[in-house]
Amino acid sequence: MRILPFLFPRYTWQKSKQDKVIYLTFDDGPIPEVTEWVLDVLQEQQIQATFFCIGDNIRKHPTVFQRILAEQHQIGNHTFHHLKGWKTSIEEYIFNVEQCQQEIVKHRKEATTLFRPPYGKIKKKQADYLFKKGYEIIMWSIITKDYEANLSPLQCLQGTIKQITPGSIIVFHDSLKAEKNMKYTLPLLIEYLKKEGYSFATL
Ligand SMILES: [Zn+2]
Repeated sequence: MRILPFLFPRYTWQKSKQDKVIYLTFDDGPIPEVTEWVLDVLQEQQIQATFFCIGDNIRKHPTVFQRILAEQHQIGNHTFHHLKGWKTSIEEYIFNVEQCQQEIVKHRKEATTLFRPPYGKIKKKQADYLFKKGYEIIMWSIITKDYEANLSPLQCLQGTIKQITPGSIIVFHDSLKAEKNMKYTLPLLIEYLKKEGYSFATL
């Protein structure tokens, strides 16, 4: 059994295991080229995904964000400055989440209720506040580790496939750091999942 979901049952780690549905998520964008490459792949494959965006990246790259919206993907809040919850005061953290929310609303005209804490690290009191505000805190069942420089693209793909179950929430990163492994893994993973009879949904 995975220990974290057991310790933190209020967070969402996994969706229903009854249905062969996979939830692809992309953290840390939007940025030019890498996010756009992901959008091209998703469009070609006719898949909707969830993008946990950094507010400051939305501010810097509004046209890329607009494209995510226009193509009907789901949006989640990933703070404005990608803060580490454990190292940040409650007030500063909450302020940063709201700053990201404002940036999202500016373009989307609608707030998001999805939040993913950067690094998966959030203090209980920060989480309490966000729950009170109506957020769902989304963690993951599979982290591809696409950002790890020591991981080869093939290891990234194989490590991900090994962990697949119905209802998996999978984390990729549309970032420069993850680009090499993500670009290799994403299309092959989609091909594998489709062959295995999975469909895709947003959170
Ligand atoms: Zn992140």
